[in-house]
Amino acid sequence: MSAEDKKYIRVWKKLSVSEVSSQLMIIDDLYGTCGKCKHLGLNYTKDKSCPECGTKFKYLATNLKSPADIAKVLARIEKENLDFVLIDREDYTLSKAKDAVKDLFKSND
Ligand SMILES: [Zn+2]
Repeated sequence: MSAEDKKYIRVWKKLSVSEVSSQLMIIDDLYGTCGKCKHLGLNYTKDKSCPECGTKFKYLATNLKSPADIAKVLARIEKENLDFVLIDREDYTLSKAKDAVKDLFKSND
């Protein structure tokens, strides 16, 4: 398996919403916010946990929409050898919505 053989392919995976919520950093470019206490100014290449509430980060969700921007985040995670799982922000938001009817697989009408 050569390095050239490896490309990003999006995977659908069933995750525990509460588990994701309790280990999530929401990022915009390099800087992020703690998903739990909303502490600002985190940097996902440096902060493994929240200095405010102690949350240990495992998941990153991004507001970035462009595949090119997301590719930069992925490249950075790889380059710095970071142990993060990048999840789709929209999937997460939908899954977290109190209204169980609005999950990913149901339309909004
Ligand atoms: Zn926090």
